[in-house]
Amino acid sequence: MSLDVTLQTDPGAISSDPVAEARRQVEICNACRYCEGFCAVFPAITRQKVFADGDITQLANLCHNCRGCYYACQYTAPHAFDLNLPAALGAARAESWERFAWPGGLAALFQRRGTALAAALVLACALMFLAVAALPGGGEGFYAYLGHGAMVLIFLPAFLLPLAALGIGLRRYWSETGGGAVTLADIGAAARSAATLGNLGGGQGQGCNFEAEERFSDERRMAHHAVMWGFLLCFASTVSGTILHYAFASPAPYGFFSAPKLLGVPGGVLLTLGCAGMLVLKGKADPALGTPGRASGEWAFVWLLGGVGLSGLLLYGLRESVLTGPLLALHLGSVLTLFLLTPYSKMAHGFYRFAALLREAQAGRR
Ligand code: SF4
Ligand code: SF4
Repeated sequence: MSLDVTLQTDPGAISSDPVAEARRQVEICNACRYCEGFCAVFPAITRQKVFADGDITQLANLCHNCRGCYYACQYTAPHAFDLNLPAALGAARAESWERFAWPGGLAALFQRRGTALAAALVLACALMFLAVAALPGGGEGFYAYLGHGAMVLIFLPAFLLPLAALGIGLRRYWSETGGGAVTLADIGAAARSAATLGNLGGGQGQGCNFEAEERFSDERRMAHHAVMWGFLLCFASTVSGTILHYAFASPAPYGFFSAPKLLGVPGGVLLTLGCAGMLVLKGKADPALGTPGRASGEWAFVWLLGGVGLSGLLLYGLRESVLTGPLLALHLGSVLTLFLLTPYSKMAHGFYRFAALLREAQAGRR
C-alpha cells in the first residue's frame, strides 16, 4: 500500500457526469483514508493510484450505501470539496446497471418511473390471471383457478428469459471491471460476505448510519437479512414443490407439514416483515444521501417484494374462501411482475453486488 496517490481530477471541480464525479470523490478519499476500516470500498480504493471507469464501476457496486463515510467526513458541504460519497457511488452504480441492462433503456425507465410501472404491470398481470381463471378447466386447490400446464407455460419463460438478460448484463460488468477466471476460493469469500452482510456492519460490527445518521444502528442489516433469507426460503419452497411434482408425482396442494409449506410460510413472514422494516428505515433516511433521481424505482422494488410476501401469506391464510381467486391473481401478478422486472429493477442489485464481491475477492488476493 502506498500513500503516493495520483490525482486525475481537480479535487474542487464537481462534475455532473456520475463516473467523473465518483472518481473525483474517490481520489479525495484515497488521499485522506480516514474511513479505511468502514467497508470493502476503502481497502479497494487504497490498492489503486489511478481509477479507470471500470474501477469506479467496481467501487460503486461494492458500496452498500450505509452512509458511515458521509457522517464521518470532514469534507462534506459547506467544504469546497462537497463530498457525498454514498450519493456519488450510488449515482455511478445506478448508471452502470442502466448501461449494462439488456435490452437497453428498460432499466433507466424502471429506475425513474418504477412505482407507476410496477403498479401497472401487477394490475395487468392480475387481470390476465383472473381472465385465465374464468376459462373452463378443473383441478385441485389453486389449480382449480389456473391449471398446472398454464402455470408452467407462463412462468417458465418469465423466469428464464429475464435471467438470460441479467446474464448479459453481468457479462458486461465482468468485462468492464477486468474480472478473471473465478475460483472456488473467490466464490467462498463472496458467499461469506453476502451471507453475513458484513459490509453493513460499519467495520467493527457496530452497524451502519443509514437511518440513524451520526448514531450506529443494526436495524438495516437485520431488515436486509430478513428480506434476503425470506426470499431464499420462498424460492426453496417453490423448488421443493417442483421436485415433489415431477420427481415424486406428488402435486399441490400440500399440507402444512410439507417442504413447500415449511419453507414457504416462514419465508413469506420474513420477506414481508423485512420489506416493512426496509420501508420504515427508508422513510427515516436522508434522501440526499441516496441514489439521485432513482427514488421511484427503489421504493417500487421494496413495495413489490413485500407485496409478493404478503399476498402469498394472505392467500395461504384465506385459502378455500371467496377471496382465493382474486388473491391468487394478485399474488401471481406480483410474482410475474417481479420476475419480468428482475434485470431492470433493484432486484438486479443482488446479482451485481455478488459479482462485485467476487471481483473484490480476486483483487484482494493479488
Ligand atoms: S469520506 Fe471523507 S473522511 Fe472518509 S476517507 Fe473520504 S474524504 Fe476522508
Ligand atoms: S456508504 Fe458505506 S458502504 Fe458506501 S463507501 Fe461509504 S462506508 Fe462504504
